Amino acid sequence: MAGRIPEKFIDDLLARVDIVDVIDARVPLKKAGKDYKACCPFHEEKTPSFTVSADKQFYHCFGCGEHGTAIGFLMNYDHMSFPEAVRELAAKVGMEVPEEAQASAETVSRNDTLLELLKQADQYYRRQLREHPDAGRATGYLKGRGLSGEIAAEFGLGFAPPGWDNLTKAIGRDEQTREDMVTAGLAVRKDQGGYYDRFRERVMFPIHDYRGRIVGFGGRVIGEGEPKYLNSPETPLFHKGREVYGLYRGRDAIRQEQRVLVVEGYMDVVALAQYGINYAVATLGTATTRDHLERLFRFTPEVVFAFDGDRAGRDAAWRALENVLPIMESGRQVSFLFLPEGEDPDSMVRKEGTEKFADRIRNARPLGEYLIDSLVEKVDLSRMDGRARLVELARPLIEKLPNGVFRQMLIDRLGEKGRVSAENLSTLLGNPQQTASSSKDTSSRAASRAVRQKSTLMRHAIALVLQHPELAAKVDLGRLQQMDLPGAQLLAQVVERAAEGPQRSTGALVELFRETEHYQPLQKLAVWIDPASEVATSERDLQRELTDVLARLQRQALQGRIETLTSKEALTGLNTAEKQELVALLAEKGSPGPTPESD
Ligand SMILES: [Zn+2]
Repeated sequence: MAGRIPEKFIDDLLARVDIVDVIDARVPLKKAGKDYKACCPFHEEKTPSFTVSADKQFYHCFGCGEHGTAIGFLMNYDHMSFPEAVRELAAKVGMEVPEEAQASAETVSRNDTLLELLKQADQYYRRQLREHPDAGRATGYLKGRGLSGEIAAEFGLGFAPPGWDNLTKAIGRDEQTREDMVTAGLAVRKDQGGYYDRFRERVMFPIHDYRGRIVGFGGRVIGEGEPKYLNSPETPLFHKGREVYGLYRGRDAIRQEQRVLVVEGYMDVVALAQYGINYAVATLGTATTRDHLERLFRFTPEVVFAFDGDRAGRDAAWRALENVLPIMESGRQVSFLFLPEGEDPDSMVRKEGTEKFADRIRNARPLGEYLIDSLVEKVDLSRMDGRARLVELARPLIEKLPNGVFRQMLIDRLGEKGRVSAENLSTLLGNPQQTASSSKDTSSRAASRAVRQKSTLMRHAIALVLQHPELAAKVDLGRLQQMDLPGAQLLAQVVERAAEGPQRSTGALVELFRETEHYQPLQKLAVWIDPASEVATSERDLQRELTDVLARLQRQALQGRIETLTSKEALTGLNTAEKQELVALLAEKGSPGPTPESD
């Protein structure tokens, strides 16, 4: 939704702007070798790990992983939208954003309209909690949960009264406004025409984004009724998979405590705050996503999940574990707090008080321990096949982990339990290229692998071209476009864009992909250091390295296609064209017979 600012304009803009100036005006930078450094503005630190590269026109923090271009920096640091950031930079270098950008200005003003409506709805709900004749039921419910008037006011709790169109009548003055209310998730359009309120007879919880603006609501039914909790639908402003309830209010407490507690419901967040635990947040009716987690890790190195001790709670915990593995970079800690069956954080803190509950949080089970214990429960460790099974169960989980201390520790622990030497284990689990059988992998697996920081040939190739766009000129693009391997299409695109604009910096190159699904992975690759090549850049022959990697990829693709065809030959037979292809492929590979042996 970045609006239609022409790509050419962004390209020219980034060629003129210097990211060093842009950042230095906000966060004073010190020269350090080729690059510039500062203490990171996105996380707390005492020694600088925030780096700005003038060559690449890209910033990166080795502490918290934040990174991006000059545009990205303004969006992150000054909380600007994409068009706002572009306008800011353009003004700085005296360029005028072209007419087409008007569309994006409209998006901005449209979002402003929606925000204004949400604000009015918030005021309305809060007033009803004080004044509506039926409000006693809502306040009664809140008092019954042990909440004071102060805490209710602090969280901005409100009341959506019974009836179909209270809010629509109150703020939906004309047809356009009522339509906007639908877009904002406040009202629902009837099939036969007309509108009704989405939230009725509920206690209302406003949901703030990271800038403190209300972007949606959660509503808890009063008394019986379904659903018990109702959230705003997905809207241009509200995305369940991204927003975290309570984060805006709790951000200072989270930084101070160096820990965030993730609970299941907004009521838990409010109840915990009533008891002085101000560092709790909740996801909004979804499992914790990677976006949620990345957002939380910006504030603190430690995330503690609280779950009910029942079956559903344990299932939810396992899903959270699987989501968190790929982003378990060094320095991050995750723990799991299981409450006794039938309890939630709200009931628990009321029963045993702040101190005891805080102790539970501090003593939550570390991720590694929880993972291994859960697997050990499923196997018989006194038997050899049981121990082998343990390794098999652990393999897909360990594969998700980025390289680093945590991964190694987990492998060591697993080795102890399974009585396998760490070396043997590393061989069993280690090299992702050996476990990825061929190009037949499903695309989702390929995608999830692409975001990880592991060294694969494809990552290596993409990173080389991104970080050294000048290399692209000598690559055979046509051949690359034919390559049948996960990630090959993206590599081809990167090569193509790099070759057509040799003056482009890494940052400008990455910026071309902003609107695509590849943007996040490419940002990471732009600063990724291949663990396999720890040699200083100046001592590497980069062009040769790239040629070599591409040749190896080509061989992989060839082998994959041969395997596909030979297994098809065995199963259903080949048609004439396929037979010819197989013969040609085998000839290219230099293998004599029709059945390829592993040589
Ligand atoms: Zn940082």
